[in-house]
Order: sequence, then C-alpha cells, then structure tokens
Amino acid sequence: MDEVVVFPEPKDLKRYDGVLTVTGGSRILFGPEESPVLRHAASEVRRALGNLEVRFGVPEGEAGPGDVWLGLGGCRELSGRGKAEGYVLDVRDRITVRAPEEAGLFYGAVTLAQLVRPGGTVPGLRIVDEPDFVRRGIFVENKWGMDLMSLENWKDVIDVLSRLKLNTLDIGVYGCWCVQYEGQVTEFLTVPLPNYPLLRTEKTIRYYSPSSGWKHLTYLPVLFEEDLLGDIVKYGRERNVLVYPHFNSLGHNTLIPRLYPEVSAKDEEGEPTGYGYCLSEPGTYKMVFSMYGHIIKSYLLPNGVRHFHIGMDEVYPVVGADPRDPKRRVDPWCRCDRCRGRSRDELFLDYVVKLCSYLVEQGIEHISMWHDQFARQGLLEALSERLEEAGLRDKVVLHWWHYGLAPPESIRPELGMRAWMTPMHGYFFWWVYGSYLRNIHDMLKLGASQGAEGAESYGAYDPAFHRELCCLAEYSWRNDAGDLEGFRRKYLRYMFGEASREAEEAMGHLEAVAEHGELHSFLRLLFPYPYTYVNPKKPYPRDYPGEPLRNLLSDVEGSEGKLRTIIGHARAAEEGFSSLKGRARFPEVVDGWEVEALRIRTFAEEFLFLLRAFREYGRAEGLGEELEGLLEAHDHLMAEVERVKKPYLLPQTLRELTTMRRGLARIRRKLLSAAEGEVLPAEEVFFDG
Ligand SMILES: [Zn+2]
Repeated sequence: MDEVVVFPEPKDLKRYDGVLTVTGGSRILFGPEESPVLRHAASEVRRALGNLEVRFGVPEGEAGPGDVWLGLGGCRELSGRGKAEGYVLDVRDRITVRAPEEAGLFYGAVTLAQLVRPGGTVPGLRIVDEPDFVRRGIFVENKWGMDLMSLENWKDVIDVLSRLKLNTLDIGVYGCWCVQYEGQVTEFLTVPLPNYPLLRTEKTIRYYSPSSGWKHLTYLPVLFEEDLLGDIVKYGRERNVLVYPHFNSLGHNTLIPRLYPEVSAKDEEGEPTGYGYCLSEPGTYKMVFSMYGHIIKSYLLPNGVRHFHIGMDEVYPVVGADPRDPKRRVDPWCRCDRCRGRSRDELFLDYVVKLCSYLVEQGIEHISMWHDQFARQGLLEALSERLEEAGLRDKVVLHWWHYGLAPPESIRPELGMRAWMTPMHGYFFWWVYGSYLRNIHDMLKLGASQGAEGAESYGAYDPAFHRELCCLAEYSWRNDAGDLEGFRRKYLRYMFGEASREAEEAMGHLEAVAEHGELHSFLRLLFPYPYTYVNPKKPYPRDYPGEPLRNLLSDVEGSEGKLRTIIGHARAAEEGFSSLKGRARFPEVVDGWEVEALRIRTFAEEFLFLLRAFREYGRAEGLGEELEGLLEAHDHLMAEVERVKKPYLLPQTLRELTTMRRGLARIRRKLLSAAEGEVLPAEEVFFDG
C-alpha cells in the first residue's frame, strides 16, 4: 500500500484494503445544523474533492455509498484531554467523521482534505485522533512587516494554521525595543486606544526597490489604522483558531512612559526615564487597566475570547531606549522616593497580582506571561504562592521561551503553574533564514514530559517558515510523533512526493548553513541587521559593511574558508530548489527557500570579494569594475526578494538589503576615483568613519 502522509501525524491510523472514489454525485452531509465552523469544514472538503453538494441537518441514515457524512457523538475511543478537538474518521464505501464537538468535525474535514489523491480517491482507513496539547499555535510579534499585514494577509495566516490543526494565534499589539533606524525607538502599537490619542507609531522606511526605484514609505500599522483586531479574532473563531492579544508591560515599554511621563519610571532625581512604569503611582494602574479594559470590551468578550498575554519579559536596563541619547543605559525600574522604599521583587509581584486580578474581574480566564523575568529574579516560587493566595494561580499561564539549542532542564512542574512552551518558528525574515526544527522538537518534548498544556512558538510570519510550522503542529498534536530525522523526511515526502530524495539533498545544503552552529553564527554577522543596534563603544550609526569586514580580516584564511563553504552549500540548495519547485505541493514555499539561499550566497560572495579587494587594493587592476558586477548581482537578489516575498515583508527586507547596496556603492566610488589617480588609503576606501 502506498504511504499516507498527514500533518500533524494522527494518533491512530489503520488501513483497510482498497480506496474510495468520490464522484460528482457524492454529497457532503452534516448531522448538525449549519454553523460557521461547519461551513468552513465543508469548504475544506470541497477544496479537496470539488464542488460537491453540501447539506446540513441530515441524519446518518440518509447518507449513501460515496457520500461524506459528518456528525456529532459516538466517539468512545477518544479519552485524552484533547478530546474536545478529537474525531474519528472512517473511509470505506462512504466517509464518516464523528466528533464530540464541532471543532473535531472541522479537524476531521482537514484530515480528509489531506488524504484525497488525484482523481478524487481516498485510501480506505480509520483514524482515531485527538491532540496532546490543548493549545497549539504561534505568537506573531508586533514588528516590522507584521505592521503592514492587511486583513486578507491575517486571514491567510489563520487558514494556514487551521489546516495544520493549530488553534492559537497570539498577536502582538504593543511592544518596544530600541533605537535601530531613523534615530527612532522601534515601537509598535497596533490597536487604537481612543483615550490615549498620543499613542501612534508612525514609521518611515527608506529603501531601494529594483522595480520602482527609491521609496520613502511613511505609514501607520494597518491593524491600527483600520482597527482590524476584532475582525481577525472573529475570522479565527470560525476556524477554531483562538486569536488573542499580547500587550507588553514593564519591559519592552518605552512609548507609553515617554509620551505619558506621569506613569514613567523615574530616576533618583524624580525625572521620568521614558522606560518602564512607576509602580507606586496610582495613575499607572489607572492607565494600564483602562487600556486593557478597552481591548477586552472592544475585541475579546464580544467574540468569546478570554485569553490575554501581558508580556513581562526582559525587565532590565538597556541602551537604545532613549532616542535623545541612544547610548545611555536606561533602567525600567523606578527609583522615585516611593518605589525606592520597597524591594524590586515586592514591587514586581504586587504589580503582577494587581494586573491579574483586574483581568480576571474583566472576564479573562487565561492570563499569559513570559517566564524569564521571574526566573531571573528568582521569583518563580514566590509568584506561584502569591497567585495562589489571591486565588489566581489556575488563571495564569507561564510561557517558557527558549530559541537556541539545549533547552532548559526544567519548566518547574512542582510549582503547580500552567505552562506553555515557546520555541521559535522563525522571526528574522529581513535578516537571514535560520532553521528552528531542533529547537521546536526539543522544547515540545520537554514540555510534554513535564506537563505543559500548550505550545505557542515565537516569531513573525513568512511563508518560508512552513516547515517549522509543520514541525510545531506535529509535536504539539502528537508529542510522541517519531524523531526529528523522521519528521524531516516525512515533511519532504509531503512536500515533494516522489522527488523527496532529491529534495533531501537540496534541503541538506540549506540546513548546513541555516541550522544553529558555528557556520550559521558566522553567517548571521555578515548581514546589516546586527549593526542596527546601538553599541556604546562604537560610533552610531555603525559602519557597515566595515564592521563585519574588519572582523573577517582578523582571520583572513579562516574567513575565506567559511565563506567558500557557505557559497557552495547555498548554490547547491538554490539549484536543487529551482529544479524541484515545479513538483512541490506548495511551490511558493520552495521559492522562499530558494531566495533565502540566494541571499546567503550573495552576501558571502560580497564579503569574499571585499576581503580580497582590501588586501589587493593598490596592486590589482579593475576592482571597481569587479564590484560593478557584484552590485548587479545584489540588485538581482533584491529583485528576486521582491518577486518572492509577500508584499508586507518587502519594505523591511529591502531596507536591510539597501544598506549593503549603499555600502558597496560607496566603496565602488572610492575604488573608481582611486583608479583615476586620487589614491586614498585602503582604510578610507573600505571603512566609513
Ligand atoms: Zn516610582
């Protein structure tokens, strides 16, 4: 029998002999009356089987051979905590899907859609299936690109998630980082807050577009300007995807305290620092409650959503938080007279308990928080106790985040707190592709072994992250799905069918440069992004590509060897994906990998040239002309990015690529003027300032 490949892997699958062939006369019949979720279940089946007749409220007895019947009840085989989303699918002379609830019927339909082969045949089988983690999904940070997504773009994300039986989409609505571009702090607010009209995060992105020349884009987040959160929540709900907001507090919080200094943390002199809150100031609570309350009343409760993420990560001093003086290290902990009299731990726990109490009063039943700041301050036990005293412990979920190799040893199950796992599925679409399969696999296995109830991975959204999403779906639905090597092969069979052997080779080359490790760490530092951050010891803006070039020059031989290895892998990956994409289930995903490989190769070739040119400068002829060719290759990369990446990802991605383009053009000008007789020292040609 040929293999059945389904993502995520069903709990139990038994094959029967033979196949069922669905014909134009087959019907899709539902036992229950029509509902939004069931309408979408029907459309999933029709997407795979063609536009068959759909009817609701049909008893099972009316279904005949060749029909699809989906109805509630009769699922004694389902027994786990994921039962509410479980289903039993049976394919013999007809197809039946039974489930305790509508969500299970939807997932039965999603599985059925994946089973259909060309010609409308479905293999005879019986699947008994339910998830291990009750919450499975992603967090989309409010960040570059995500702020340009339209309602249609968000709907596409929800469709992708729901077809992988991922049921959770956490959307970042407020978060702040540090000065990176245009002298502005990177801050995003994506819900309008009518009581606080100063809070707007207008952005300007200047970049070069090969198709339309120099661009100067000034905009507000689309979510904010069109007030879309409620529409996204509603769309998700109809596809069994919980959509809920993430609104930072304490850490990642500069916009609110800068514009409303009365709530800001203060320094010893009582001056607002513009980062973090004063936790002794009643106005702080009034403002935070008012903002959270508005979001809950406007977007969540009307759609039956009772989840809220309050952030709380990384509450520590940083540089880049003060746009007037980016090199100044700013503390989010208030030093006013009132705060100074109390310990930081006490202030923190009091704040958290007050916030959670307020949210529960407003009807929120699941309050998410990151684990790290409590761990950093040694407060996990105290947090658990304080929440227990306040009767809040079962309402709070700690999100354990870790994005590298070697996950933490424990998520502290003895504390009795609810836990979700947060690996990364992909984030830096504007920087360089990283593979997070190992991180996802290891974090979810850890969570499963220590009683976690959910997995919500971190990042942004780019279709190039599809493999990571499948991995997340696989191990969050079925914690004991096979090992990671098995997953990798299964994914390629799913994507490429019979061409999967060839695909293994191409993917192996991409993995060689994209997986965590020495080569990937080396590669990451070639791109402009790390140099957008303020370093107090260096002039700002920083010199690019000068800084990475200087690093490479400290070990020319080693650097050249690594660059050549990277170029070899990237080229082989490009060639492989290029020949494979015509045979892929999702060609646009393969296009995405190919352009990632092209980006990697292009930058590696540029630095290989710069290394040689710096050393041969003054002796070799024609370096300027050679660089001309590299600039053409750079524009080719940018044109490919523009062709392949989603429009909302382009301004930020092209801005980063423009930084290198500008640097190369500057060096070329100096090389050419040197060729015309004006001889500059090499330092001046290759470095800026
Ligand atoms: Zn204070």
